[in-house]
Amino acid sequence: MAKKIGIVYCEKIQDASCVGCAKCYKAVNENTFAFEGAGEVRVVFKCGCGDCPGLVVPRVDLQMTVLRSLGVEVDEIYFGTCVKKATMLMNCPMNVEGVTRVMQDKFGVPVHMGTHDY
Ligand code: SF4
Ligand code: SF4
Repeated sequence: MAKKIGIVYCEKIQDASCVGCAKCYKAVNENTFAFEGAGEVRVVFKCGCGDCPGLVVPRVDLQMTVLRSLGVEVDEIYFGTCVKKATMLMNCPMNVEGVTRVMQDKFGVPVHMGTHDY
């Protein structure tokens, strides 16, 4: 059975350097980088971080609620490489470690940082 994932993207970077999120889809579909050896993976949601300061949890919560109502369970959540770059290079104000812990506790799924290296 395919692993179902959601990807959270940086609203300052998406469609600026990662137009249309083609890079994440390529990594998922070709099982490269974060998805190496992961078998079949399906992206079941993508969600913006909410823009600075990154109030992302309510947005993901809404996604999870809608997906549950549709009978779709999410197995893992990823912060896109855009968020990784934002935290490393752009003074991203999001408390990524705290948000990761909250999402793991609240949604009961692993939360990873980074999706590809393109
Ligand atoms: S890293 Fe992925 S999620 Fe983020 S903007 Fe690029 S392609 Fe989209
Ligand atoms: S810099 Fe951080 S909080 Fe701001 S839009 Fe990007 S990921 Fe979201």
